[in-house]
Order: sequence, then structure tokens, then C-alpha cells
Amino acid sequence: MDLKQYVTIVEDWPKPGIRFKDITTLMDNGEAYKYATDQIVAYAKEKDIDLVVGPEARGFIIGCPVAYALGVGFAPVRKEGKLPRETVKVDYGLEYGKDVLTIHKDAIKPGQRVLITDDLLATGGTIEATIKLVEELGGVVAGIAFLIELTYLDGRSKLDNHDILTLMEF
Ligand code: 5GP
Repeated sequence: MDLKQYVTIVEDWPKPGIRFKDITTLMDNGEAYKYATDQIVAYAKEKDIDLVVGPEARGFIIGCPVAYALGVGFAPVRKEGKLPRETVKVDYGLEYGKDVLTIHKDAIKPGQRVLITDDLLATGGTIEATIKLVEELGGVVAGIAFLIELTYLDGRSKLDNHDILTLMEF
């Protein structure tokens, strides 16, 4: 299946000069969403995953159906102030702004093999921060899966030597 036909390019959003890749037109198509999810599930099965971790909010949309299909848990990474219990946190910069990401301190057991998911790899800041959170809690980043990679931003270079799956390149 050619997944790119389901991604809508929105010019000048959220700022002039940005060509936003809107994945809602992929998610609301049952066949495309299932196809994309199945690709990531197949990848995760090779990596022997114990837990899926994804940053809000689109990391949830990708990660939760994968966790369900694998029969493993999902742990959310959220902006500061959103998680109700004790967290660890990390500062990060993203394509357009700066923020803090957090995860519950007890979300990952040391040694658990983690799949990180998000919709899109741009500069890599979001996932670099997510890797730090996972590793701080003793998790092993066994793989990272995205729908889309913006190759011209070379976000990969920030993700050390971690194994990465991307379903589409722009
Ligand atoms: P990075 O941290 O890699 O620079 O940016 C990636 C994060 O920003 C992801 O969490 C992603 O959801 C969001 N993002 C940045 N640009 C786009 C885009 O064009 N389309 C979508 N869907 N998300 C984007």
C-alpha cells in the first residue's frame, strides 16, 4: 500500500514556511491505519518488545494499537504537569519551540525492552528526549518506529545508533 497518498500536506501551518504532514487523513482510513499499524507490529515482534512508550499526543495514536496487538503495555510520555504521580523529566527542543517531557517514575521496570513510537521524525529532539527518559528508568530502547521521517532534517543523527523503522520518507 502506498501510505503517502493518505498524508495531507498543509502549507504554512502552524507557522509560515512549514509544510505540515497531516496524518489524520491516514488515521481516519481504516485500511491505511491498519496497514501502518501492522508494519510496526511486525517490526516490534522481531525486537521482542516488553513495553511501548510514546510522546503525546500522536505517539499515542501510533503506539497504543501496536501495544494492544502485541499484548504489552503502553506508557505515555507527556508535557510537564500532565501526569498525576512522581515523574522524571527532561528538557528538549523541537522543530518549532522548546518544552519539557515527563514520564511516571515507575512506568518502566529496569531491563524492559521498549519500543518508542511517534508519528514523525523531524529534528529528532522529541525522541532524543524520550530515549533519555526510558534509559533513565533503566529501560532498553530496542527499537523506534515512525510513520514519517523528514530525511532532510537528519533527526536520525540525534538518535545514536538506535534501530529505527520509518514507513515513509519526505
Ligand atoms: P522533532 O522533535 O523530531 O523535531 O519533531 C517531531 C515532533 O513534532 C513529533 O512529535 C511530531 O508529532 C511533531 N511534528 C513536527 N512536524 C510535524 C509534521 O509536519 N507533521 C506531524 N504530524 N507532526 C509533526
